[in-house]
Amino acid sequence: MRKNIVAGNWKMNLDYEQGLSLFSEIVNMVKDEVVGNQEVVVCSPAIHLSSLAKLSTAKVAVGAQNIHQAASGAYTGEISASQVKSVGASYVILGHSERRAYFGETDALLAEKVDAALAHGLKPIFCIGETKEERESGEFFAVIKTQLEQGLFHLSADAFQAVVLAYEPVWAIGTGLTATPAQAQDVHAFIRQTLVEKYGQEIAENTTILYGGSCNPSNANELFSQTDIDGGLIGGASLKSRDFLEIVKVFN
Ligand code: PGA
Repeated sequence: MRKNIVAGNWKMNLDYEQGLSLFSEIVNMVKDEVVGNQEVVVCSPAIHLSSLAKLSTAKVAVGAQNIHQAASGAYTGEISASQVKSVGASYVILGHSERRAYFGETDALLAEKVDAALAHGLKPIFCIGETKEERESGEFFAVIKTQLEQGLFHLSADAFQAVVLAYEPVWAIGTGLTATPAQAQDVHAFIRQTLVEKYGQEIAENTTILYGGSCNPSNANELFSQTDIDGGLIGGASLKSRDFLEIVKVFN
């Protein structure tokens, strides 16, 4: 049975003490709320990771928001998968639309980052999703299929099983505009069907597919009750412990 995951994406928010205090609050609050098949992940700025990982639990894991594709070397300012892993993080967000748009990350580069993550035991939370123009022109299914094919489909079936997917329509991120549950379900079902064709029914059924984009306590319930939506990647609402907890509790 696939896992339900609620993952917070703090982006470039919260100074060190603020991060530590929010994470401690989250760990305390979700203690009794995380059910058997669910995991909570907090993806913090890299500078917080080592301290947060020390407070992490079997139910609340820590993840990075990016890694460099190389194993080590002369890449001033960058952080490798093995460095992220070595401080106790277990996930890394890859392919977020902000990194694709502002840092020029291409599908080909992301495929290399996926390999680096997997080589060091980090589970990628791999983001895919269409822009507003691509939604309006109706080409979004093709866009999503290409992102899957070029970023992930070089993986063997075995390697693919460590990947978590996040469907994040770019037009819904940080805008307050959420995809309707039906719109999101349509794309999630399409993603799962694409996985069936590539990796077979069993692997597709076991893959966790998160929804992200203005997900909050008032819409999470309806979104997560869709057949193919297995949780959320939460930006803004993950910065408020109560809102984040409300979203976590949807699976109770
Ligand atoms: P949002 O961000 O919840 O603030 O829309 C989601 C994300 O970018 O992962």
